[in-house]
Amino acid sequence: MRKAIIAGNWKMNKTPAEAKALVEALKPLVKEASCDVVVCVPAVDIATAKAAAKGSNIKVGAQNVHFAKSGAYTGELSADMLKEAGAEYVIIGHSERRQYFGETDATVNQRVLAAVNAGLKVILCVGEKLEERNAGYTDALVEYQTLIALTGLDKKQVEKIVIAYEPVWAIGTGVTATDEQANETIGVIRAALARKYGKGTANKVRIQYGGSMKPSNVKGLMAQPEIDGGLIGGASLKAEDFAAVVNYDK
Ligand code: PEP
Repeated sequence: MRKAIIAGNWKMNKTPAEAKALVEALKPLVKEASCDVVVCVPAVDIATAKAAAKGSNIKVGAQNVHFAKSGAYTGELSADMLKEAGAEYVIIGHSERRQYFGETDATVNQRVLAAVNAGLKVILCVGEKLEERNAGYTDALVEYQTLIALTGLDKKQVEKIVIAYEPVWAIGTGVTATDEQANETIGVIRAALARKYGKGTANKVRIQYGGSMKPSNVKGLMAQPEIDGGLIGGASLKAEDFAAVVNYDK
């Protein structure tokens, strides 16, 4: 049995003061959650969010990490920096990073290795664009993105990676993949993991769905056997909405 994991991706929203207020509002609302609860916040909010979450079941994550340990990379943040600031998780390879910041499968892989080596838990994002789905490339693409990103990890390390299947056409658009589409593509990812790392490992990896997941559609998605949680953008910015997603089984 895989424990579900629901993570918020705040993107470029919330100042430190707003982050404190949101985490404090969230704490009582998610305290009975049966899943792991994570908020992935802007880097400047990590320490504040961590302090606000103290004594609760809310874990804090970052939204990106650089692959070098340190050095001349103006504006970037290393895995050690994020960890020391209070991050336990980090999102890597989000489609907005790929689309707007030139992230490639190769640099995603480097970032995954850096994060794992520093002891951060990775939420690895993969997913196809609409034209790729329409052309019939979804399965090949998510398989390729996943296996490249994990290159260099051993089975034990792969087991601990959280994968977020996020069809790009469903992110921030209000359009959700159907429950069956999401389940099917996540099944494709798990089958690829099984071929490369064995069934035992593949069955331990938690694979989330992400893309306009919200209180009104979370139950149907979470009822699918392959879906182990969600990565939530827009609906993670209001305590009541995010709590309603986290408490999908209540
Ligand atoms: C995301 O940013 O990962 C995401 C899924 O966003 P939204 O829920 O707003 O579609």
